[in-house]
Amino acid sequence: MGEGIAFMGGDYLPLEEAKMSIFDTGFLHSDVVYDVTSTWNDYFFKLDEHLERFARSCAGFHLENPYSNAETAKILAGACEKTGIKNAFVHMHVTRGEYPEGSRDPKLCENQFCAYIVPYIWLWGEEKSKKGVNLFISSIERISSRAVDTRCKNFHWGDLIQSQYEAYEHECDDSVLCGPDGNLAEGPGYNIFAVKDGTAATPDSNCLEGISRRSTIELCEMEKVPLETRKVAPDELRNADEAFVTSTAGGILPVTAIDGAPLGNGAPGLITSRLSESYWHRREEGWCGTTVADILAA
Ligand code: PLP
Repeated sequence: MGEGIAFMGGDYLPLEEAKMSIFDTGFLHSDVVYDVTSTWNDYFFKLDEHLERFARSCAGFHLENPYSNAETAKILAGACEKTGIKNAFVHMHVTRGEYPEGSRDPKLCENQFCAYIVPYIWLWGEEKSKKGVNLFISSIERISSRAVDTRCKNFHWGDLIQSQYEAYEHECDDSVLCGPDGNLAEGPGYNIFAVKDGTAATPDSNCLEGISRRSTIELCEMEKVPLETRKVAPDELRNADEAFVTSTAGGILPVTAIDGAPLGNGAPGLITSRLSESYWHRREEGWCGTTVADILAA
C-alpha cells in the first residue's frame, strides 16, 4: 500500500492496518456519509466549508460524528503532519456501525469515524485530467434527491458506477447523469458545467453542492465569466462550445468531447483553461487556505 496514514478508533494507523467490520452497516447498506478535502502546499482548502458540509451530511443521515469540527480538523492536520504529505487527498467518513445482536434498529448502532490521507489524487490521473476527457451522457438516471438527498455526500454510488460501465462500453472516459426531470445532474465524483457563447451554466438541483463547484462560481465572478445556475438540458452539453467538471480531485477539469463527438476544436476551451489556471494559481498561494501548522496550533 502507498504513502499515507489513517485514523480509526481514536488512533493513527498505517493504511494497511485500517480495517472495518463486515457487520458495519456502512459496508452492508452504504449507510455512511463522507467528505473529501485536499491540501496543496500544506494549505487545507476551505476546510471550514468542508467540515460544515460534513456535519450537514451527518445530520441529514441521522449520523453523529463523535468529534467536533475543531477536533476533526486537528485529526486531519495531524495526519498531514505525521506523513509530511504537502499535497494531500483528505478523506473522512462516519459509518452507522454495527447493529447490536438481534436488532435492526439503526438508533442503537455506535457511529464510527474514520479518516485517511494519501498523496493528492486527480480524477483521471494528472495527465488526462489536464488534457481533457470524453464524457458519455448516461441513460442511467441519477438517484432522485427525494430518495437520497444528494446534498449529503454519501456512498450511494450504484447509479454512478453503472454509468461508468455504460461510458466504457461507448468508448468514453467517464459519464454524466441526468436527474429524474431529464436535466443534467452530475457525474461520478464531479459537478458539470457547459459553456455557450461565453456564458457558463451548471445544474441547480439533483447534485451535490460541490465545494469546487461553489469555488468555480466565485471564480467566474472574479474572472468576469457570466454564470447561470439553472436546469441544464443534456443537449446543451452536446452543443456546448466547451465544458468542464469540478471536483476536489483536480479542481476544474476540461471535457473535450461528449458521447464521442468533439466539443469546439476538441481541445480544452479558453474559458475552462482560464478558470483552471486561476484556480491553481490561487491554490498555489493558499487561496481560502489554512495551514496545517495553524490548525495544530489553534
Ligand atoms: N458530485 C459528486 C457525486 C461527488 O461525489 C463529488 C465529489 O466527490 C462532487 C460532485 C464534487 O464535490 P467537491 O467539489 O466538493 O469535491
